[in-house]
Amino acid sequence: MGLARDAARGSKRGDRPMNEMTGRGGAAQRQREVDVLVVGMGFAGMYVLHCLRQRGLTGRAFEAGSDVGGTWYWNRYPGCRVDVDSVQYSYNFSDMLTRDWQWTERFASQPELLRYANHVADRFDLRRDAKFDTRVVSAEFDGGTNLWTLRTDKGDVASAPYCVMATGSLSTPYRPPFPGIEDFRGEWHHTGAWPHEEVRFGGKRVGVVGTGSTGIQAIPVIAAEAAHLTVFQRTPQYTTPARNRPMAPGEQRAFNVRRAQWHDEVRDTFTAMTGFPAPTRTVRDDTPEERRAYFEKRWEEGGMPQAMLTTYENINIDREANAAVADFVRDKIREIVKDPEVAERLCPPEDLPIGSKRPPIDTDYYETYNRDNVSLVDLGCTPIERVTAGGIKTADGEHGLDVIVFATGFDAMTGSLLAIDIRTSDGASLKDAWSDGPDTYLGLMVAGLPNLFMINGPGSPSVKTNMIIAIEQHADWIMDLIGHLAARGLNRVEATERAQAAWVAHACEVADATLMPVADSWYVGANVPGKKRVYMPYFGGFGRYRGICDEIAADGYRGFVLSRAGAAEATAGVAAE
Ligand code: NAP
Repeated sequence: MGLARDAARGSKRGDRPMNEMTGRGGAAQRQREVDVLVVGMGFAGMYVLHCLRQRGLTGRAFEAGSDVGGTWYWNRYPGCRVDVDSVQYSYNFSDMLTRDWQWTERFASQPELLRYANHVADRFDLRRDAKFDTRVVSAEFDGGTNLWTLRTDKGDVASAPYCVMATGSLSTPYRPPFPGIEDFRGEWHHTGAWPHEEVRFGGKRVGVVGTGSTGIQAIPVIAAEAAHLTVFQRTPQYTTPARNRPMAPGEQRAFNVRRAQWHDEVRDTFTAMTGFPAPTRTVRDDTPEERRAYFEKRWEEGGMPQAMLTTYENINIDREANAAVADFVRDKIREIVKDPEVAERLCPPEDLPIGSKRPPIDTDYYETYNRDNVSLVDLGCTPIERVTAGGIKTADGEHGLDVIVFATGFDAMTGSLLAIDIRTSDGASLKDAWSDGPDTYLGLMVAGLPNLFMINGPGSPSVKTNMIIAIEQHADWIMDLIGHLAARGLNRVEATERAQAAWVAHACEVADATLMPVADSWYVGANVPGKKRVYMPYFGGFGRYRGICDEIAADGYRGFVLSRAGAAEATAGVAAE
């Protein structure tokens, strides 16, 4: 591994590509440099690197950003914060880390989350095996040598028997191609690639396009600073109060005392989170007045998005139950927003089930529309025609703007994987494999692409869960599999077409039995024109999914072909089972 270590140290010696330092590359046959290549140094990539070291394996990571943090590195927009309780949105692998770190707010803000990512990277010296400011452009598997070779935009070429895509679920920003953007004389930014320098709104006319989780977080904060804020809304969202607050003295310590027990419990939950009572009644068990009183109580308590969606049983399945919550939120909008016409524009339509788009939580979102300096444009009635030199022109006229904020989301779940040219020497490619939708086995592997793993890939619970818990589960499972192979002198694993087809069918069946695929959401790819409509996350629940993964592993990795192939040296070196 000496050569790999040199390469790892290379980033401190400047920007020389890795293959220059290893003396490899070009047309010569590739050799293994490390055991596992990792793409991405967000929370997933960092944990994978840590796991590799724990198991005596070597890893090398590439990251497009200048530092660690992934989502929390890129999404620096005003108001950005997590919507899972911070104490639950924390790694669980190190008691020392748990003891060292103190969250200041129930829902940590982006700067604090980024500090946490940096703290983890420092504490475990993770940057040593990562190269930053470097985007992986292609990944090719050579069946003869049994090696994946990554190539980057900085000229690096690195090879290893295994490759883990820790590329994030929401990391390729999507900006609609509104004509005229090049004419705009002001400044514009996408929330998912927010500048590192402060963006000043004071005295300016600001437009925010998009009212998903991001827009809903940014709008109240921008409104408080801007001279005027115009919100361009295509589909109204249901959002419920976060009731964020400082952590109470001793609160985190008390949580940590029972963290191990919590960790055991959370692994069997639907969302990999706790903190909201499980529903025990159906909407039909209560009178409308009782329901209202219960919804009021939960609204006042606020909290994670699931809080309102777990008031009664089957809200994600049963239209009547769903409508009861949705009606309550619409009533709340009419109660909070003083201008009845604006309130109606903010009310989601009755045929949009609550929860079918990713449910946001907010701080004073609806209240913001009571401000004199905020106006709401309903793009459903008056769509954006173009961006002009002075603002945005909709069907009813031009809105003068100095700054445009595009909170228009991401090419979710598949965008970052398909942005890399992933292929094999015998002609298979991810692009072809996913031409009819992102088929995977367990959201971990794709048939035809051996030794390539995804963290939180499509077909896994991923975005429907507490992402940290899902990351840990995936990384641990992959490490166990690599250890299992090494212990048996094997070095290749591939999902079978048959197992993959069965998993895809199961995942579709589960989603289709719910209201989830109904909405035009990024979950189904509807936000990106031309994207195949498939409900991408697995909606069978985290606990059930984890159980299936464990069962498959215990059954000798059912649905995977494990084999020995290629040069002897292309085996991950250590029996780490
Ligand atoms: P999003 O949910 O996809 O919302 C994008 C918004 O832009 C929607 O309002 C969408 O309208 C609008 N839009 C898209 N294309 C448009 C067009 N051509 N014309 C007009 N409007 C357009 O994206 P996001 O708000 O960035 O959130 C993405 C995900 O990131 C969230 O769902 C969540 O999972 C995650 N996130 C999490 C947090 C958190 O944890 N606190 C915070 C922010 C984001 P339509 O609804 O009509 O498509």
